[in-house]
Amino acid sequence: MPLKTKPRKRRLKVAVTLLSGLLPVLLGSFILYMQAGRALVQHAQETAEEAIRQFELMLDNTAQAAHELLPLAGQSCLDVNLALREQVTRRPFVRSTNLMWDDTIYCSSLFGDYHEKVASGGYAGGRLLLMKGNPVTPDTALLVYRIEDGKRGALATLDGYHLSNVLRLIGRHTLLILQVGNNWLTADGHVQEGTLPDFSVAQSMLKSTRYDFSVAAGFPDGETWRYMTNEYPTLFSLLIFFGVISGAIGHVLQKRSNSPTLEMQRALDAVEFVPYFQAVVHGDSKKLSGIEVLMRWNHPKEGLVRPDLFIPFAEHSGLIVPMTRSLMQQTATLLGPLSGSFTEPFHIGINITASHCQNLDLIQDCRQFLGAFAPGSIHLVLELTERELFEPTELTHQLFDQLHELGVMFAIDDFGTGHSSLGYLRQFNVDFLKIDQSFVAMIGIDTPSSHILDTIIQLARKLELSMVAEGVETQEQSDYLTAHNVNFQQGFLFGRPMPGAEFISALSDH
Ligand code: C2E
Ligand code: CA
Ligand code: CA
Repeated sequence: MPLKTKPRKRRLKVAVTLLSGLLPVLLGSFILYMQAGRALVQHAQETAEEAIRQFELMLDNTAQAAHELLPLAGQSCLDVNLALREQVTRRPFVRSTNLMWDDTIYCSSLFGDYHEKVASGGYAGGRLLLMKGNPVTPDTALLVYRIEDGKRGALATLDGYHLSNVLRLIGRHTLLILQVGNNWLTADGHVQEGTLPDFSVAQSMLKSTRYDFSVAAGFPDGETWRYMTNEYPTLFSLLIFFGVISGAIGHVLQKRSNSPTLEMQRALDAVEFVPYFQAVVHGDSKKLSGIEVLMRWNHPKEGLVRPDLFIPFAEHSGLIVPMTRSLMQQTATLLGPLSGSFTEPFHIGINITASHCQNLDLIQDCRQFLGAFAPGSIHLVLELTERELFEPTELTHQLFDQLHELGVMFAIDDFGTGHSSLGYLRQFNVDFLKIDQSFVAMIGIDTPSSHILDTIIQLARKLELSMVAEGVETQEQSDYLTAHNVNFQQGFLFGRPMPGAEFISALSDH
């Protein structure tokens, strides 16, 4: 059935709907993720720059203390001790000051006279050394600034507490490390040596241009995602919103593109609805009196489709009107050229529906149809099923009257299965009653409904209406109908519905 969705297609549709919903979310998330990554890199660089500024400021103080003291180196500790202590007191961040002679500390702000040999080897750039601690405070980091001039030397130390404070306070979300030479200090105040640990996100390394130290900045694993959800909550909600909208649009578009209406519109444009002709014969002579035009859908994949599978959809969508128009045009093209040879008016039955009665377009369609035949060579009979009769409105009266004026005739199809009243039949000036095939099928079978056929025949005779018996399949049925003076017969006994061209060649063979 061409208008039903197959399970495999349904799964595909669900997948497409999900994809159209997820794609913007995934794409948007990816863009946000990249954006967050870029923001974090910038953040890390800015934090590292700020840390470097702070460390340089601290080192400036420390260096100034050392520079001021250097000229005093060589003088006795007793004479310079006060100067050493003054620097510690005056200069922020400076923890201790020391004077050296010949690579040996001989005077310290802390201990006064002192004696310790200090090799210059481990100092970065000969100036800076990051230490885990000293004998006084073994667990507190210490940054030593050292200058020398000949045998003279001065050392000023910067308290690691201030350094780790900077690392902690500036880099509240950023992980920061201060590296001096082979040693490095983290925000928790610990000094370690060797290679720096890797930061998984936005790692950057900046060097001070003024002192020999570097700052590494970065973020731990998962920071990009955390940053995204924290910083872009509105964008995130928008993404979800767009995802839902896009999924819904995808769903609706698919539904529309697969809707029976669209599929039938396509088929109509491709002229896939084609006429089949079934013979109608005279009840007495069994000579051909005309045809009924029956629609078939010549579907490119499904093959020939029966009308009861698609006509309800066509009626529902209103497409039945242009479909019938196409059917009439094709019929006129096929039979019009033969009409000169018709010896008596040839009946051509076309099935119409209530949709045809919503305006007067049918009049023009019938006028065009009749125009394709030799004048008086055919009787166009519009068949309307009894289950779906016209509303007796002003419009339908106008329609019927004008069609009658054109010479168009009317048949009540499937008669006996609906509920047309006698008044109705008179009001609309019906010409034929088509006895439903279910009653014909009862002929020869003695059931209560087999008597209905006789009643219908009597009724039609009283109303002076011509009768067509449908679905005549057996000789017995045909004989019975002939015996009861049913005017016309139609059924497989006389011929199945067949394609127009086939019908025409059968006609010429006769
Ligand atoms: P219908 O108008 O009552 O058409 C007669 C149906 O009976 C046709 O079925 C025909 O093939 C079938 N038939 C004819 N002789 C025999 C017989 O001896 N035995 C049996 N068992 N069946 C027989 P079909 O062509 O499948 O059409 C079914 C229905 O679809 C039609 O019933 C009609 O209501 C509708 N239809 C067909 N073509 C059109 C059309 O162009 N427009 C509209 N609106 N409806 C159409
Ligand atoms: Ca019919
Ligand atoms: Ca019928």
